[in-house]
Amino acid sequence: MSTTFPSPMPLSRSPQFAGNSAQLSTHGPSPCALPPPTLPNQRTVFLDLDHTLICAISCPPSLLPPQNYDFLVKNDHNRVRYVRKRPYVDEFLKYLSQKNFEIVVFTAAEESYASVILDKLDPKGLISHRLYRKSCKRLDGRSVKDLSDLGRDLKNVVIIDDQPTSYRLQPENAIPIRPFIDELQDHELKKLMDNFFDDYEQYEDLKDAIKHYLEVEKQNRRGRLIGTRFDTGSHLPVEVKAFFLCISFQQFPCSISIFTKIARSPKRCSGFTIMIFVCTS
Ligand SMILES: [Mg+2]
Repeated sequence: MSTTFPSPMPLSRSPQFAGNSAQLSTHGPSPCALPPPTLPNQRTVFLDLDHTLICAISCPPSLLPPQNYDFLVKNDHNRVRYVRKRPYVDEFLKYLSQKNFEIVVFTAAEESYASVILDKLDPKGLISHRLYRKSCKRLDGRSVKDLSDLGRDLKNVVIIDDQPTSYRLQPENAIPIRPFIDELQDHELKKLMDNFFDDYEQYEDLKDAIKHYLEVEKQNRRGRLIGTRFDTGSHLPVEVKAFFLCISFQQFPCSISIFTKIARSPKRCSGFTIMIFVCTS
């Protein structure tokens, strides 16, 4: 059994790409933009497929299939792939649709591989367009997804992808996402619904919303890291532990100086030095 890592590409129902340069090249013939959005100033979300919305596993007949999967697909060569949906993916697509987002799946995978998966993943047709490998460009030997060539104003565009090289041409439009394999406790899509897509409307330019979201996420990660390290500490005075726990929920930059002062206290240094290092790294 082996996990497939499809490579990037454009849409069955949508056009091809244009645009060639010395460095950039397209997989396919000539490209073109997506059809115009159905609503004026509609926001568009580009979603990667593999390891962002699903994880597909190819399993040879000689091996037992995986125990947990949501559906299976067969390609033209009768090859079977077992597909695991990322937790909350159904709710995520429905939520975006209700928010009047134009949903475009932009995958670097071949159409023959991805289209059968998308047919099962999206039986209600919430996804407006599908872009496959042919819609990707080549840059330094890698597939990239150029959002500037698709007929959408970049202020109305966000891409969610687990592969940073995919959005290297427009990183300010991207929300990175942790690659999904099969973790049942994965909450990445729920987090996006709760913390980004529930709050983006106040921004005229989605790039500003993305920047704000990523800054908050960065601070939250630091806060969680402090809390985790703190909980594993064993020899810290109880009152200091409680103090640490409180400030870990506050603005992180304000906490640094407080940590430093505590760390300088002679009998309380042992665990704090490590925590300060983690916080500032
Ligand atoms: Mg991916």
